[in-house]
Amino acid sequence: MRLNKYIAAAGICSRRKADELIANGNVKVNGAVVQQMGVDVGEDDVVMVNGKVLEHRAQKKVYVAVNKPLGYITSMDDDKGRATVAELVADIPERLFPVGRLDYNTTGLLIMTNDGELTYTLTHPKHEVYKTYVAVVAGVLSDSRVARLRKGVDIGGFVTSPAKVKVIKQLPRRAIVEIQIREGKNRQVRKMFAAVGNRVQELKRTAIGNIHLGRLMEGHYRKLSLEEIEYLK
Ligand code: URA
Repeated sequence: MRLNKYIAAAGICSRRKADELIANGNVKVNGAVVQQMGVDVGEDDVVMVNGKVLEHRAQKKVYVAVNKPLGYITSMDDDKGRATVAELVADIPERLFPVGRLDYNTTGLLIMTNDGELTYTLTHPKHEVYKTYVAVVAGVLSDSRVARLRKGVDIGGFVTSPAKVKVIKQLPRRAIVEIQIREGKNRQVRKMFAAVGNRVQELKRTAIGNIHLGRLMEGHYRKLSLEEIEYLK
């Protein structure tokens, strides 16, 4: 990684400020002052700024909540050239990974981190955290359909575990409904509504456990608070 990026990734300053520190002779790599730009450093190099060894990049954990807009894929790169969620966190120097997935046409809360353990715990099937979605579905969501969704439906060889379902508003041709599920099968919410006869027209994730999307604008991110990080672990 480029030296200026490495310094910025350690969280002590911006990349531009890192360039200044380098130019001014404040940075040493493996004991020697480095003033030229564009030097690469790797995991085994010891970088010092103003006499202090920088914490290794891998030790600095970053946790963000992203509001994914429509038309972004939940992946860090795409061979078809589609927009990816990586673009939403492009100004964060650490390489982040999405925790779980949202469909191309789903909006809302996505957690991104470089903490591989968190990725593991949150996506593990045994994890008990409820994910909350607001869906706009076609047609009438009758009480009996709501009851079936709550109990569990067959979505192609898999019966979903009990869900919390609340109809927020029944309109003449569609319903707005909040659904909370614990599992995260591929396209699960869409398949659950399809199983009872209501096609999902819009889908947004509004919370993962106690972490709420709140007023975060589409396409923006915020760092998680310490309480939120502790909660997820
Ligand atoms: N369920 C879905 O169907 N899609 C998502 O993006 C998330 C949950």
